[in-house]
Amino acid sequence: MHWGERPPNFLLTPNIELSLNAPIVAHFIHGKTVTDANSRSLPPLTSPIDGRDLGTVHVASSSCVADAVASATKAFANWGTTPVKERVQVLFRFKALVESSIDEIAKQVTAENGKTHAEAAAGVQRGVEVIEYAASTPAMFAGQILEVSRGVDCYSRRFPLGVVAGITPFNFPAMVPMWMFPMALACGNTFILKPSEQVPFTALMLADLLKRAGLPDGVFNVVQGDRETVEAILDDPGIAAATFVGSTPVAEAVFLRGSKNGKRMLTLGGAKNHLVVVPDADPEITAKNVVSSAIGCAGQRCMAASVLIAVGDCDHILDAIEAEMRANTVGCEVGAIISKKAKQRIEGYIDRAASRGANLRLDGRVGPVAGKENGNYVGPTLIDGINAADESVSDEIFGPVLSILRVATLNEALAIENQSPYGNAACIYTTSGATARYFEVNANAGMIGINIGVPVPRDPFGFGGWNTSKFGTGDITGPDAINFWTKTKKVTEKWTASSSNWMS
Ligand code: NAD
Repeated sequence: MHWGERPPNFLLTPNIELSLNAPIVAHFIHGKTVTDANSRSLPPLTSPIDGRDLGTVHVASSSCVADAVASATKAFANWGTTPVKERVQVLFRFKALVESSIDEIAKQVTAENGKTHAEAAAGVQRGVEVIEYAASTPAMFAGQILEVSRGVDCYSRRFPLGVVAGITPFNFPAMVPMWMFPMALACGNTFILKPSEQVPFTALMLADLLKRAGLPDGVFNVVQGDRETVEAILDDPGIAAATFVGSTPVAEAVFLRGSKNGKRMLTLGGAKNHLVVVPDADPEITAKNVVSSAIGCAGQRCMAASVLIAVGDCDHILDAIEAEMRANTVGCEVGAIISKKAKQRIEGYIDRAASRGANLRLDGRVGPVAGKENGNYVGPTLIDGINAADESVSDEIFGPVLSILRVATLNEALAIENQSPYGNAACIYTTSGATARYFEVNANAGMIGINIGVPVPRDPFGFGGWNTSKFGTGDITGPDAINFWTKTKKVTEKWTASSSNWMS
């Protein structure tokens, strides 16, 4: 099916805001919301915070994806040739609109994802930084020129790839899409976003704001769905490249399928981040920072502290961490877990740790939260008395659960960190520059924190892990993003007959 040949069951609703929290979650194709009541539906979505109904996702089939590709292809003819200085004017207006709508966007993120309002607003703010960076693309887009032999010039010019796609996870409904599309659009591509089927609404809000910022129809599209939709994107020959953020097994499968189909791919996967604490660390700073890393966003972030490795005698710091964790109330400072299934999975890890005889210094199996009985909540959890072979040390739990390991030396701590198949973040807490530097040089991870438990590099530094936390080359944000979303053409020219060189 192609755009313009829509069957009668496709309903066009011109106002996106009307489609938020609507019975059927809309796609956004060629500047309009589109629904297809006859396509396969997923179980109704409920809000993680209070269980209220949010709507039902109908999965975009390959023909719906083909519609989006047709729309984006048509739009590319003009957008791809619009000078970059003109393209970024839309991003300047988009940034202003996002900033003035932060509260509204954050409310939507909280309703569908469950994180607190402050966390949701911070995620949007981080997305704004990427828009800012993308808006400066003209300064970075200029090519190079060099006289390579007498009278012969070589210069390079960047071109967009065409129609590209982004596939995103549930945990940052605004920020992770904004890691991708502002730069892809600034570089002249047209974009198809497939948000997580667990948080489909925020993407529509962003589509609405882009439209209001003056982005031409078809340049940005949203298709809703699950694996079927992702595979349709990866198999569609009209899509030149895709970035993905999600769990490692899916990141690997998506990378391989997209690459096999000839697409440029970059896929970011899961994580298991180690925080190493040495006895000279400042107890107060360390406790606050470790806890905020471990339980912020209810532990549902790829940069969350997950294993704390205490080197030598750190009991005074561990006690401060426990006290700080106890000061955070579930349902208040600690937001909700995305689904009942995820809550059960997290509680399963706590159950099994308890049955293996671990010391649960803090047990997050708190039961219903007063006033939010239908929400999905797990409280801060601190597991002690385990060894490096424990599943809570190796698996990505993705909840507010911090496991403590004790070792005698910094090298033992590094050995544990470096054996992890992941490599997103690793952090050290110390007041010694020499210790910090030794750790930074020897830890096997793409992002290192020194007294910072969520070491997210801010633009212009790029975000990207190592090992199975990433498949593909380069970072997803920062300068590498320009290289990912463009191809360069190199031109060699001479205008004088007298120029001579055996190569040109
Ligand atoms: P997920 O892998 O389940 O889903 C991510 C996306 O892939 C969604 O859009 C989903 O619809 C799609 N998908 C799911 N299964 C698929 C399949 N079999 N084939 C094709 N597509 C499929 O991830 P999630 O649960 O939404 O998000 C949490 C995960 O994301 C965690 O592992 C977390 O560490 C990771 N994450 C990583 C980063 C990073 O920067 N490395 C950032 C955020 C989240």
